[in-house]
Amino acid sequence: MKNQDLVDYLKYCSVCQFCQLRYLKARGNEYQNKQEYFDRVNVDYEEEIDWTGDPANKKKRQNVCPTCLGLFSEEFKEQLLQSIENTDIDKYECDGIVVAISIPIVLQLRQLSMWYALLDKFGDNINLDRAPDVSLKEAIKLILNPTICERLNKSYDISNGLMLTINLSHSEEQEGVSQLEKLNSLVYPRKKGQKSEQISRSLIEKKYTPLRVSSELFKNAFVVPPSIPTESLKFDSVSLIGPSTYVAGRYRKLSRKLSHTPWVLNGERVMDDSIEEIIIRNIAHYFCDDQKKVNFMSSGREDVDVRCLGAGRPFVLEIPNAFRSSLSSALAREMEENIDVSQKVSVRDIQIVKREELIHIKMGEEQKRKCYRALCQIGNIVTVDILKRLDFQNGFEIQQKTPIRVLHRRPLHTRPRTVYSLKPSVCRQNKNLIILDIVTQAGTYIKELVHGEFGRTVPSVASLIGQHIDIIALDVVEIDLDWPPSVCTL
Ligand SMILES: [Zn+2]
Repeated sequence: MKNQDLVDYLKYCSVCQFCQLRYLKARGNEYQNKQEYFDRVNVDYEEEIDWTGDPANKKKRQNVCPTCLGLFSEEFKEQLLQSIENTDIDKYECDGIVVAISIPIVLQLRQLSMWYALLDKFGDNINLDRAPDVSLKEAIKLILNPTICERLNKSYDISNGLMLTINLSHSEEQEGVSQLEKLNSLVYPRKKGQKSEQISRSLIEKKYTPLRVSSELFKNAFVVPPSIPTESLKFDSVSLIGPSTYVAGRYRKLSRKLSHTPWVLNGERVMDDSIEEIIIRNIAHYFCDDQKKVNFMSSGREDVDVRCLGAGRPFVLEIPNAFRSSLSSALAREMEENIDVSQKVSVRDIQIVKREELIHIKMGEEQKRKCYRALCQIGNIVTVDILKRLDFQNGFEIQQKTPIRVLHRRPLHTRPRTVYSLKPSVCRQNKNLIILDIVTQAGTYIKELVHGEFGRTVPSVASLIGQHIDIIALDVVEIDLDWPPSVCTL
């Protein structure tokens, strides 16, 4: 089969020049210079009339290509670029894009029809199991994607680009699909009790080749070669989805009346606000429109009545469909100041981090050390003997049962935990008060470590001093996680 014969036949079927190149198996940037490629494969080149931009030329308009339904025509490209520009793409601050074009099934059926036609025309030269053309999917990548990138002045970035999803439709779609359903029930009759198969793109890809489906059966259902269509493809929709952006920082919890996440009991809020809501409310709107989709993660959490001081607790917001992927230090500062207004939470080191860094938040919970300061009260005066009994420079092990107060959300276990050090001091103003500086393994329940919870934590501060002890106030003073890095704002 000579290339010239193939192209002559494709021309006879009114196939466009880009599709001719597909059937000549052009690759890579060979689509960018058609004439050069035709010369190279010894095919006469005739320039196609570009009628676009000149309405008077409309009459000279070429027919819609029967194998791509106009997908690669100049007119279509122009429409495509315009519909992309009509979206709010300018809102997205990103250098890269990804393009996903969803094509109607009728387009696949037309490729198939041409395959059977070429088989009739060129016989053995055509493979029965491998398509004779460069697939439309591949050709879109080679022809349309570079055009879109060039026009938008963006690079193609699969991992972090703005996703453009383009849905196309065609007036013949419904008829084509119902014809295929009929054909499918003949070629692959369903067994008793089996559900009828959904017609899909992958079904055609997997089960429809001239090797599997006879030419005769196919021709009963579809025209071979594909007819000249009356209409080209239409745009259904162009939608944009921005990449996910991750915003990290460290928060300090300054209130003893603030829950970590929204606290709702029997459908009613117990507290008006939460750390999660304060942080999301002040950061998310700089990055996205839908705050409900933002995910708040932190390295552990405090109880409602516990403050978190010192350098604060690391957190990350996962913001899907973000239109911003960078952050100036001035804007970060603005967010931090807005959060300060709440007077309940204070945030520092706001910065954009990479997805890979989320591992810092997720792992290591068990290994990390936590530093607390607890204000405790006993019934008697604090003596030197009591202080001595609570002085553990080198730490000790405890066995801790899951506290009753969290049993509704955590399974019952007895877990060993390490108290790395315990250091007591007296409070000058009140002789019944002890201040305890405690360093423990993450996951230790501090309140129970102090009062012992009726022997569910052994030993406990109460058992060590042999008397009842109350915890009045608790602060987290340091979290042993050196992430995210501190941001210097001078
Ligand atoms: Zn075409």
